[in-house]
Amino acid sequence: MSQVTDLATHPVLIKTSLPGPLALAEIERQKPHMSPSLIHCYPLVVKRAAGCMVEDIDGNVLLDVQAGVATCSTGHCHPAVAAAMKQQVDTLIHICGTDFFYPGYGQLCERLGRLAPHNEKGWQTFLSNSGTEAVEAAIKLSRYHTGRSQLIAFRGGFHGRSLGSLSLTASKPKYRKGFGPLTPGTHHVDYGDWQTIEQRLFTTTVPAQEVAAIVVEPVQGEGGYIVPPASFLQNLRRICDENGILLVFDEVQSGMGRTGKMFACEHFGVRPDIILLAKGISSGMPLGAMMARKEIMTWGGGSHGSTCGGNPVCIAAALATLDLLEGGLLQNAAVVGDAFKQMLSETLTGQPGIHEVRGVGLMIGVEFTSPEIADAVANLCYERGLLVLECGTKAIRMSPPLIITREQAIAAHGIFTQACKDVAAKHDLPHPGVHSKLA
Ligand code: PLP
Repeated sequence: MSQVTDLATHPVLIKTSLPGPLALAEIERQKPHMSPSLIHCYPLVVKRAAGCMVEDIDGNVLLDVQAGVATCSTGHCHPAVAAAMKQQVDTLIHICGTDFFYPGYGQLCERLGRLAPHNEKGWQTFLSNSGTEAVEAAIKLSRYHTGRSQLIAFRGGFHGRSLGSLSLTASKPKYRKGFGPLTPGTHHVDYGDWQTIEQRLFTTTVPAQEVAAIVVEPVQGEGGYIVPPASFLQNLRRICDENGILLVFDEVQSGMGRTGKMFACEHFGVRPDIILLAKGISSGMPLGAMMARKEIMTWGGGSHGSTCGGNPVCIAAALATLDLLEGGLLQNAAVVGDAFKQMLSETLTGQPGIHEVRGVGLMIGVEFTSPEIADAVANLCYERGLLVLECGTKAIRMSPPLIITREQAIAAHGIFTQACKDVAAKHDLPHPGVHSKLA
């Protein structure tokens, strides 16, 4: 199979039915050896990727508007990120940031602290390998600093799969099934519902003085790409201030420019005590960050650490990623994100099978009227060369690389809206408000 040249600028190209014969054979070979817990939402076998484009092993070229689950922020294999990593690989691959110093670690922490909102009093940062480890670090620091044990999180929230973070995760029962008992003292309320915390939890079951932290995604990701009203986060801030509770913003998915601002919480003007980052921070390399305001970082040497967290190669990728974000990608995310969402809204709002188009920046969700429709649309998009992911109970998320061009957004819009139309026609879906089997 001949390879396409200039992959990053190549249009969608479907040469075989998807999955192609080579992909099917490869999956058959690999699958028996892999953990069956992996999801594999499409039978896609990737050969290489560049920018927003992915080439599979059959030579098909797909447009990726999910960016490795919102991770490849600068696009696949950005030359500047790759060059920074290659240089680092020839200099220092690993020494362990928990036990030794090297320039990149402190440099990244300092830079994140400078970029963080409300940075007058200063931030300090712990670097991990992943989002879930950043969440674990936040749980530990919150308990350590406050001397309290209880945590409050939100239904629909996703915070990771290790046992502490899984205790906060409440987006799908399958993530928790069979793994209990989880961390005791974790309480959930509906996303957006700050009233229940004050009027029910604090008055019936959870003494406010025993709560260490409220952990919340400023824009809910896995739970459905839901943008809350500013009053929700503002009231959480007030509740935390009144009760000595720490406010933890999990920006693993919404941070690092995805919403058109470096941190999603900047849209709401609310100050967090702890910010959690991963995914887009290093363009696909395994890195997470738990940033806390300086006066909260009261734990001493040895209380927390990680062998590979803050690895020099991942840090090189993160520093190059930050250069690109500050050098124009934040603005591109805001501008192309607005245009993309508007195109989707104009074409889809009020159409059969569509419940809502929503989002901010390049964090765009389309909610359907049933999970089956979301599933059918996602699969049809894949067959036609557009990679999207499902989220919530019946939504599709689009989180493209922040380098996506207007032309690529137009192409994605074309494939996506045609798939919505074709699924609606195939299942004879009525306009919203009229009852049907699938809708
Ligand atoms: N927090 C949020 C908001 C996430 O979206 C995710 C992953 O999707 C995580 C935490 C966990 O990150 P990781 O998969 O890197 O452990």
